[in-house]
Amino acid sequence: EYQLSDRVNSIQPSPTLAVTQKANELKQQGHDVIGLGVGEPDFDTPEFIKQAAIQAIHDGKTKYTAVDGIAELKQAVIDKFKRDNKLDYQADEIIVSAGGKHSIFNLLSAWLNPGDEVIIPAPYWVSYPDMTKLVGAKPVIVQAGIEQRFKITPQQLRAAITDKTRLMFINSPSNPSGTAYSADELRALAEVLRDYPNVLIATDDMYEKILWSQEPFANLPMVAPDLKERTVILSGVSKAYAMTGWRIGYAAGPKKIVAAMKKIQSQSTSNPASISQHAAVAALSGDQSCIDTMVNEFRHRHDYLIDALNKIDGINCVAGDGTFYVFAHIEELMQKVGAATDVELCEKLLTDAKVALVPGSAFGTDGYCRLSFATSLDVLREAVKRIAEFSASSV
Ligand code: PLP
Repeated sequence: EYQLSDRVNSIQPSPTLAVTQKANELKQQGHDVIGLGVGEPDFDTPEFIKQAAIQAIHDGKTKYTAVDGIAELKQAVIDKFKRDNKLDYQADEIIVSAGGKHSIFNLLSAWLNPGDEVIIPAPYWVSYPDMTKLVGAKPVIVQAGIEQRFKITPQQLRAAITDKTRLMFINSPSNPSGTAYSADELRALAEVLRDYPNVLIATDDMYEKILWSQEPFANLPMVAPDLKERTVILSGVSKAYAMTGWRIGYAAGPKKIVAAMKKIQSQSTSNPASISQHAAVAALSGDQSCIDTMVNEFRHRHDYLIDALNKIDGINCVAGDGTFYVFAHIEELMQKVGAATDVELCEKLLTDAKVALVPGSAFGTDGYCRLSFATSLDVLREAVKRIAEFSASSV
């Protein structure tokens, strides 16, 4: 009998990966399963980015680098923030990590003590609460359902803050909801945060580029420059450039916090892969039109899917602003097919209709499911057909 740590026993394996695995198992047994569980673009990494990596290998850029990333990449990140967000950062306010997830983990490790509280709006990206628990801190979940387009209000934020609150997550556009906060909504949250100077803001901008709302992208330090000194921006190249496997994320924030994140990284993973860093330089400083091609396609699929799902009895969705996810309200469908929970409904859908989705409860909000549209329109049409038949076959 192995006695594992309390730390590891306090968390769950990533539920989104679990669904993908279950769907893969069924596929291997010969079942024709449609997987809408994935969390990565279905596009290939653009060719010029691959070429930069190949060149880096030929040039012998295959050794340890600075722990927090090569100077060229940090400069490319600084240029990106200036160009896209009109935000100024110095090199010692930037750290490059092995994926966005790694940046987040470094931040939580560097900032939180056991007992500290972290505000997490739900539906949330699955890793926030578990990473919070992993460092001994306490997730405080604030619910925002479909009726508020999955965005928390200033009143909810104020009610959730206690004298133990040390961090607040904000993820816009959001995985899993696909909705984004407007500049005005962010200003209203900033108004509350000004009253609580001990709360650090972690803005997860991973889907910044996958956005089609009327308004341009905004994050908290863009609309409330006075809060920049207590905000850490978390982002990366994974989603915007279809580079999930390369493992490059980055963070920007106050010098002291970034230095602490670097210290953690120096004693755990050291630098992210040198070759991937050179690829990321090309991604951030090369021709950005590759993003438009992908975003246009995502939007096209989004529009189809929202419309088609809303026609199915028992399913209700609101249009998103970006990402490649729909967070569908399925409580009526659950009642209709006699599923007590969203997990049960997703299991039924997988066994009966051979469509794999992730239950909303995995993201902290029951009665929903997340569909990823990082797959072709043909596959989406077939999935919709199966879900519609599934709904129609139960009375
Ligand atoms: N943040 C959000 C909201 C995400 O959805 C993801 C990936 O799914 C990440 C961060 C982490 O991205 P990466 O693959 O770079 O670790």
